[in-house]
Amino acid sequence: MRLSENDFPAIGLGTWQNTVPDECANSVQTALELGYRHIDTAHYYGNEESVGRGLQQSDIERDDVVVASKVHAEKFGLDYEGVIEGAKKSCERMNLERLDLLYVHWPVLQYDAEETLSAFEQLERDGVIDHVGLSNYSIDLLDEALSVLDETPLALQMEMHPFLHQDEILEYAQEHDIWLIAYSPLARGNVFESDVLQSIAEKHDVSEAQVSIAWLLSKDNVRVIPKASSEAHLRDNLNAVDLTLDEEDIKRIDNVDRQERYVERDDSPWLE
Ligand code: NAP
Repeated sequence: MRLSENDFPAIGLGTWQNTVPDECANSVQTALELGYRHIDTAHYYGNEESVGRGLQQSDIERDDVVVASKVHAEKFGLDYEGVIEGAKKSCERMNLERLDLLYVHWPVLQYDAEETLSAFEQLERDGVIDHVGLSNYSIDLLDEALSVLDETPLALQMEMHPFLHQDEILEYAQEHDIWLIAYSPLARGNVFESDVLQSIAEKHDVSEAQVSIAWLLSKDNVRVIPKASSEAHLRDNLNAVDLTLDEEDIKRIDNVDRQERYVERDDSPWLE
């Protein structure tokens, strides 16, 4: 999909820890057949071959799907050559000619805004990727990245869910017109334990997963990538597009903010 800036599927499929090859390929295929049009993977997840196989097993046209991957400091590295090689290997593993979106997975270790992002821009010029994405950035690192990039990145992928609201990052994404891709949108399964989400889910006769997704999608510029393996979970999450929460529900979740993260490294940029 040659993405216009205004067009990004509301609900995509996360694939972290979906590493059993056939299960992963089949869940990607099922997701596409159910209507998902954005698949998120990463070199780090070790499942790009299976994700590629799922894409090829389905009847969906390649150009109708947003395929996103990420380059990682601990794999090929984030120096110029590492990024170029990493992106090409991701394409090879998925058996694709290009990626719609490639992220800096974490701006850590050898990450250097000028060098790393100039490799991303070269990949764009060479047609290996369509768009630049950033993930796990602090506001300072975002400012630096935007100052070295010729064009604003398409997407910023950050952990976001009812227990981590990311107000500052969200405002930044909205101001700069960047899609904020909420990762771990079900708080890695923890949304099911929340009394507030349980009571809103009961009120609308839906799952807590749908409530969490609908709350995220009620915010401007936000898109979500829940990971699901079974067909039942894939369907449940996709159906969240039809759920509209009322103002009171949204306020109740807005008041939940517990600043709880489930994904962090010792050198995460926000810890500095
Ligand atoms: P998540 O999407 O918040 O939660 C996934 C968990 O919820 C899985 O155990 C899944 O089970 C379960 N689940 C999904 N739908 C459900 C439903 N409708 N009812 C009940 N359980 C349900 O967690 P995540 O995998 O951390 O995040 C999503 C994606 O974001 C990742 O897969 C990855 O693509 C991306 N991500 C990116 C980064 C980054 O650094 N950029 C970090 C973390 C995640 P089943 O698998 O059994 O269906």
